[in-house]
Amino acid sequence: EDDDDLEEEHVTKIYYCSRTHSQLSQFVREVQKSPFGKDTRLVSLGSRQSLCVNEEVRRLGALQLINDRCTEMQKNKHEKKSDEDMEGKKRRVSRTVCPFYSYEQMQFLRDEVLVEVKDIEQLVALGRETKACPYYGSRYAIPAAQLVVLPYQMLLHEPTRSAAGIKLKDQVVIIDEAHNLIDTITCIHSAEVSGSQLCCAHSQLLQYMERYRKRLKAKNLMYIKQILYLLERFVAVLGGNVNQNPNCQAVSQTGTVLKSINDFLFQSQIDNINLFKVQRYCEKSLISRKLFGFVERYGGPATAVKTNKENQKLAGLQNFLLTLQQGSDKDGTPQSPPVEPEGDQLRTASPLMQIEGFLSALTNANQDGRVILNRQGTVGQSSLKFLLLNPAVHFAKVVEECRAVIIAGGTMQPVADFREQLLSCAGVDPARVVEFSCGHVIPPENILPIILCSGPSNQQLEFTYQTRDLPQMMDETGRILCNLCNVVPGGVVCFFPSYEYEKQVYAHWEKTGLLTRLATKKKIFQEPKKANQVEQVLVEYAKCIKRCSQAGGQMTGALLLSVVGGKMSEGINFSDDLGRCVIMVGMPYPNIKSPELQEKMTWLDKTMPRAAGQAPSRVLIENLCMKAVNQSIGRAIRHQKDFASILLLDHRYARPAIFNKLPQWIRERTQMKPAFGSAFAELRK
Ligand code: SF4
Repeated sequence: EDDDDLEEEHVTKIYYCSRTHSQLSQFVREVQKSPFGKDTRLVSLGSRQSLCVNEEVRRLGALQLINDRCTEMQKNKHEKKSDEDMEGKKRRVSRTVCPFYSYEQMQFLRDEVLVEVKDIEQLVALGRETKACPYYGSRYAIPAAQLVVLPYQMLLHEPTRSAAGIKLKDQVVIIDEAHNLIDTITCIHSAEVSGSQLCCAHSQLLQYMERYRKRLKAKNLMYIKQILYLLERFVAVLGGNVNQNPNCQAVSQTGTVLKSINDFLFQSQIDNINLFKVQRYCEKSLISRKLFGFVERYGGPATAVKTNKENQKLAGLQNFLLTLQQGSDKDGTPQSPPVEPEGDQLRTASPLMQIEGFLSALTNANQDGRVILNRQGTVGQSSLKFLLLNPAVHFAKVVEECRAVIIAGGTMQPVADFREQLLSCAGVDPARVVEFSCGHVIPPENILPIILCSGPSNQQLEFTYQTRDLPQMMDETGRILCNLCNVVPGGVVCFFPSYEYEKQVYAHWEKTGLLTRLATKKKIFQEPKKANQVEQVLVEYAKCIKRCSQAGGQMTGALLLSVVGGKMSEGINFSDDLGRCVIMVGMPYPNIKSPELQEKMTWLDKTMPRAAGQAPSRVLIENLCMKAVNQSIGRAIRHQKDFASILLLDHRYARPAIFNKLPQWIRERTQMKPAFGSAFAELRK
């Protein structure tokens, strides 16, 4: 009770969350510019990766490594001098504490944060200046802040939320860029562990138990044995044995199998273990963090994380870890060859952390999730994945506690998914849900959306799996593009439903000489598959458009062949000359053969009512397709003075059920063109 009295009171506030760091920074800059900028108490929260100011830790690069190292240092600071610690005295590197984690300095940083609105970059600069950790310091500012700006993960994942000190009771939550909210919640609460990780965790935990067996309380020893047993059984389900190198054990029956949670527990023979208690033990004992110093027996890329070469100190740490392992062998752990660092220094993170996520996922209700057993190649490459089917169970807590939740986005259509799968399943009374859609800021004449039903040679446009590979379909698409590139200035972005189809069409056009014809008007760019090449392609694409518009001449810009749901369909803007015309080739339906999607469809059909005579699974497929379309075509209009045409190539877009899933501001201006001639006339204008 005393503790409750001492706890700082949380003032009424708005939690604003968005998907990416840059979207959050943009929002903070808008607050700074607004009339409220001067007298709003705002705090930006973020991950350690964006807020850590300890250069030595920051240099580790990967989020997991930064998290591991930071928590390890917190542990050093808080731990009492137990016998265990005395032994650890020798570990000079891992015993250090972070100089920025100082209560007084962080209190000072908190006060500074509340005086003036700051984005993440300004917060980091302040942390460096005041020698205080912005990651922890910003959390102290939450109770008094009126506006808390944070990434999705921190708000939507309950353990992360409570660790950060976020209290939603009677507060207002705004979830921006929410078009993928259902997928995001599903993703945050799904967990995958590989055979390598399971074996590595088993090896580390076994070493830990052998080393500290005499000092462990009987109850803790029991839990450790239970976890070891769980790991053993998980590897056995994948067709392997924890006592052998997972990368050398071939899997006899390859393939993907889906199980209900109960069936999985039963098949693994772990249905007699209370996973809730194991989960609580893991949380309280922080056992996964205690395994940092233990080296896995079987080295391999899946479990060893390479760190920055500059961090010379790790070489010493690695050597120490190796001697520790050799030492533990003497204590009775089964003998095995030590892991040799391969050129780069290697450092093992604790895979048990990831496995804890999987264990806690297994405590979901049987009907809300499935376990996917993926057996491929070796045991090390195989994996167990928890798939959450009902994201509403995790969203329900947010809705229950808050005064109001605003789910907002630029392309939220179709909204039925949110209403049914998220809100209604979370127990929200439909009468309390208010839908609001406002128009776009651009004048109606700045956008020309067209549904095109046939091409220049009257070939009907229908890109189904059966018809899209036909040469006449690919030829007709090419003719449409040639005509458009003749009249559209600047950049043309053409979206294909998949990488494979884009590659196939490209190869066909290369063979027929169409690419050469296109190249007289536009320089052709293809979306790269690798994320690190996207930036360069975009820079070249933009440069080419600029060069062409300045130089005049026959070449009028560039053509970008892109992929729906690929690297360029979200988060990248084709504003102004970068996208004067966006073309969508066919309808990007998801792959319904994917076992995960099939399971979700079956689950929806079992739990949801039919909507307007349609099976919920059918609605899901259409919604996934149209969400992807809306995201892609929304890339072209980015501000009030922007203008672009949008071409949807497939007569099926004209069907009312599909057409109504376009955003209202596009739908209102869409023209349906059965023939190419009249569409082309409109475009020429
Ligand atoms: S306490 Fe803060 S500054 Fe120090 S390592 Fe952790 S995140 Fe970085």
